[in-house]
Amino acid sequence: MTEILYMKDAESNYIKEFDAKVVKRGEDYVVLDKTAFYAEAGGQPTDKGVLGWEGGESSVRKVKKDKGTVRHFVDPVPEADDVHGELDWERRYALMRMHTAQHVVSGVVYDLFEARTVGNQIHGNRSRIDFHPVSFEENDLKVIEETCNNVISKDIPVSIYEEDRDVLEEKMGKQRYIMDLIPKSIRRLRVIQIGDFDICPCGGTHVRNTSELGKVHVLGRRSKGADRERLTYELV
Ligand SMILES: [Zn+2]
Repeated sequence: MTEILYMKDAESNYIKEFDAKVVKRGEDYVVLDKTAFYAEAGGQPTDKGVLGWEGGESSVRKVKKDKGTVRHFVDPVPEADDVHGELDWERRYALMRMHTAQHVVSGVVYDLFEARTVGNQIHGNRSRIDFHPVSFEENDLKVIEETCNNVISKDIPVSIYEEDRDVLEEKMGKQRYIMDLIPKSIRRLRVIQIGDFDICPCGGTHVRNTSELGKVHVLGRRSKGADRERLTYELV
């Protein structure tokens, strides 16, 4: 099992480089004893960056997690066992901002329309969220945008911690997140909490305060079938 360095709290999401040992080599990948690279999951794309060692360097093109094994797809495969990982921080930080913004937009849409987030895809420049059940009108987009920016402007701290599933369900009450999506066997969950505004289980990477988000700009909406709407947004 690889130790995931960004899991434990908000500060750990800012780890940009780390030392690690290669524990397994494949034809085009390595498994490390620990990593700060995010493996693509839950609508957040993979981190990229470099693995360096004495006398060499390889680029990390993609990181994937499969049953607890995190594979760093690299070119070339490092020869040494001691490596130094360095994230493409510009890319990762853009994704962190977008992911925290997604929680804000999802929370606002739930508060205003009682519509839940049923899908999302984050990118560094623009992202999208699918909501159900809802049908937006053009004016709703302005209201969503203004409400999001009102929340963001309060400079709310973001905390990341682990919680027992039962305790979390009680804390959340009637909430936007569909807990049934998480297998019942998982009893401890990683939680992202944006002050009193939003609380949600999530394995992604996030900023430590909404003051880092700038402003949400809603780019548009599109119907994705019965009572299902897709919102696209960027951060400006
Ligand atoms: Zn999330």
